[in-house]
Amino acid sequence: MKDISWFNDMEARIPTGEVRTRFAPSPTGYMHVGNLRTALYTYLIARHGKGKFILRIEDTDQGRLVEGAVDVIYKTMAECHLEHDEGPDVGGPVAPYVQTERRPLYKEYAELLMERGHAYRCFCEKTESEEDSGDFNRGDDPCRSLTREESDRLAAEGRPYVIRQRIPHEGTTTFHDEIYGDITVENQSLDDQVLLKRDGLPTYNFANVIDDHLMGITHVVRGSEYLSSAPKYNLLYEGFGWPIPKYVHCSPVMRDQHNKMSKRHGDPSYEDLIAQGFLTDAVINYVTLLGWSPRGEQEIFSLDELKEIFDISGISKSPAIFDIEKLRYFNAEYIRAMSPEAFAKVAEPFIRQAVKNPAIDPAAVAALLQQRTEVSSAPRS
Ligand SMILES: [Zn+2]
Repeated sequence: MKDISWFNDMEARIPTGEVRTRFAPSPTGYMHVGNLRTALYTYLIARHGKGKFILRIEDTDQGRLVEGAVDVIYKTMAECHLEHDEGPDVGGPVAPYVQTERRPLYKEYAELLMERGHAYRCFCEKTESEEDSGDFNRGDDPCRSLTREESDRLAAEGRPYVIRQRIPHEGTTTFHDEIYGDITVENQSLDDQVLLKRDGLPTYNFANVIDDHLMGITHVVRGSEYLSSAPKYNLLYEGFGWPIPKYVHCSPVMRDQHNKMSKRHGDPSYEDLIAQGFLTDAVINYVTLLGWSPRGEQEIFSLDELKEIFDISGISKSPAIFDIEKLRYFNAEYIRAMSPEAFAKVAEPFIRQAVKNPAIDPAAVAALLQQRTEVSSAPRS
């Protein structure tokens, strides 16, 4: 483990005194509607607070890497005007901003936590899936009670191990969420989650806490599926003696009453919607309103207006249902508000597909279509 002055230097780099948020996508090759909404909320909280918006690439889950997928993230963010102040491509004071490039850090912090008694090496032979599923009963884990000397000796012998969080058996942990309020859980209901895997790579839960702290993140925006992990995050922050950021857990974007939107089940990604002829600005407007309510009756907002008025207190606890008909309505509003020239420009590729006769001027067709079009690819009369 590094000496304490190294850790102090890391602390000294952390920017303070400003709102700092991060969007931390995995490179999957497309932008989920739910992810786009997380990006928007994260961006709007930063801009509303005159703070910094940071892009971090979470690529530690090696099995999911897709070629060119990081470029898709940059392209989508740029297209949606979500310009980031810090990130892999633009740099910043707390670089690197790609998780695999931060790999050596996690081990140091896992060892620091071990030093402080809040983590331990586990030498048990279990499959990764047993560890992930939580089926492993920590009460049975003899490693939790190994002395530090025994643990060091086994590690020195070259025995493979994971590093687990040592959760107290007694007491409760309370955390505060900006949307859900105070939530208290019994510590005995929490598992000694794996922080560092056998290959030395961190788990998602551990890397997030380390990165968010070292990047000075003040507001952590993520899906409500992580609510149940929040007490373990709190115990990590406390174990390190770090301030706890504001948690903003957002309810999922649903396809219907019971199911989340999912690309696998044929729900459109952001890219699919654009290919179907929806306008980026209309998608941004509509997606922001999925789970966030402005104070008045107005529904059509530019991104600049949203930066002014977006407030965390308007985010809803109840899941939002993605309604393509509602999006059509937004799109139609945006199309009617466009200048004829701007509409002709976005409509032209779609008109060229439909009208093969080169003598027909797409601009003339566009002028006829604009007033009765909801989606530029599929005019309905
Ligand atoms: Zn063990």
